[in-house]
Amino acid sequence: MGKRPYPAQAGGTTPFKHPPRRKLTKRDYAKFFESRQRTCEGCGRPIRPGERWTRDHIIALTNGGPDVDENCQLLCKFCDSAKTPSDLSQSGKGKRQATNFVVPKEYRGSSGFYKPPGAQFNWRTGRYEIAP
Ligand SMILES: [Zn+2]
Repeated sequence: MGKRPYPAQAGGTTPFKHPPRRKLTKRDYAKFFESRQRTCEGCGRPIRPGERWTRDHIIALTNGGPDVDENCQLLCKFCDSAKTPSDLSQSGKGKRQATNFVVPKEYRGSSGFYKPPGAQFNWRTGRYEIAP
């Protein structure tokens, strides 16, 4: 589960470098997504197109990290929320942690978070339940 070194630039493609803090286009994000084999670099989970993911700065911009792909990793929503909970509310953090805690690994496959239809999180039992 530890952090893996990011893979070298895929062979044959032109390495593209961006000037610092340039604004990325949708295409840039798509290229980045593909260059990381659509795989979360935090947990190794495949990420489906359309699923929420982040281009996470390994060294944060606020810590002087450059805004280039070499300083970025592809993170799935679970790894991103585990890494940067600070600016989010405590209740949001608790919900995410509870979600990661109660949802079995096999339900966290490529389709992302699985919740049975109509299920509600019950804070007393700490699990999802189908409402009566
Ligand atoms: Zn992940």
